[in-house]
Amino acid sequence: MFKAEDIRKDFPILKREVNGKPLVYFDNAATSQTPQQVIDTIVDYYSNYNANIHRGVHTLSQEATDKYEQARLKIQAHFNAKHAHEIILTSGTTHSINIVASGFTSLLKAGDEIIVSALEHHSNIVPWQMLCERTGAILKVIPMNQDGELLMETYDNLLSKKTKLVFVNHISNALGTINPIEYIIEKAHQVGAAVLIDGAQACPHIKIDVQELDVDFYVASAHKMCGPTGVGMLYGKEALLKILPPYQGGGEMIAEVTFEKTTYADLPHKFEAGTPNICGGIAFGAAIDYMNTIGIGTIASYENELLEYATKKLLEIEGLKIYGTSKRKTSVISFNLEGIHPYDVGSILDKLGIAVRTGHHCAQPIMNFYNIPGTVRASIAFYNTKNEIDILVEGVIKAKHMLL
Ligand code: PLP
Repeated sequence: MFKAEDIRKDFPILKREVNGKPLVYFDNAATSQTPQQVIDTIVDYYSNYNANIHRGVHTLSQEATDKYEQARLKIQAHFNAKHAHEIILTSGTTHSINIVASGFTSLLKAGDEIIVSALEHHSNIVPWQMLCERTGAILKVIPMNQDGELLMETYDNLLSKKTKLVFVNHISNALGTINPIEYIIEKAHQVGAAVLIDGAQACPHIKIDVQELDVDFYVASAHKMCGPTGVGMLYGKEALLKILPPYQGGGEMIAEVTFEKTTYADLPHKFEAGTPNICGGIAFGAAIDYMNTIGIGTIASYENELLEYATKKLLEIEGLKIYGTSKRKTSVISFNLEGIHPYDVGSILDKLGIAVRTGHHCAQPIMNFYNIPGTVRASIAFYNTKNEIDILVEGVIKAKHMLL
């Protein structure tokens, strides 16, 4: 039987105080907290085998290389990729998306169409707009409804033989909606388009099987799933990664360099120019181990219980409106108090030791859709408790009384 109280001891930061109050951390969709097991991995790396990888004969370099490649195998197993070389270690979701967007420059022509959704994070909008500017391709958008759900009928109509790529997030960071990616992938494949799914928000809550999804590219960041910042992954089907040109040139990504002609290394190294975040990659593997010892299924069902409880409690506050009311959602609650700016609510909550995010959450088109400047976003993780939700609700009531 899972008890959040039992695993909270793994997270040293949860013991700290903020503004004289115990920290209540509800900014998990921005960055999750790091368990001691991952912190120990980082300390162990710098204390015992810090060295550059792949190019040393000495013991430290070999140890670091082994651990780094073991982490790749853990990531491969976790996402069920067919081959380890289909996992490219990157600096995070943004970097992963840019590798693909940049690579498609030479593969698209003017008039080709690419489809994104109205629910995207700026990282899954701007690189494609830049790709359109470079190639003359046309960007089409799957619209959303008031509940924060994508309109699949319109998607069906947007698809045609001209569609070359489709980019959708698995879960919206601003609203928590779980998008019907299975349907999106299947339909895109019927017209011969490739699909990239931004899994930044899904990986902490849902078990992903890239082969079962038959997805072409899947991207994620370690820091959303108990790992460190500055590291993430790009999964790509081998055949597509082989066609895509490299993103950056430099050391590590070459087979042979002469001034006349350079040839590139095989996968995954073709996309891993320069010294990577070695420690981060190894710690990403440790974070996956940590989450798997609890079990993603256990995490998801506990978080859903908290989501239901928090939604019910917050909706009891008069004048509070929740944005993103789909039945298919994860533990993100985006809300506003009538007549009060979200920033003011967030500032008062901070004085009470409660960390939430306020603003547009890097998803300005969603805020424009609702015609609001932003929201207060409380995002729940498996180490949160019902007691913390009660503290959040009390804090919101307090903020309302102070600001009205
Ligand atoms: N996509 C989504 C859905 C996100 O939530 C985020 C981060 O909040 C990103 C992309 C960007 O991730 P990163 O900043 O780790 O590259």
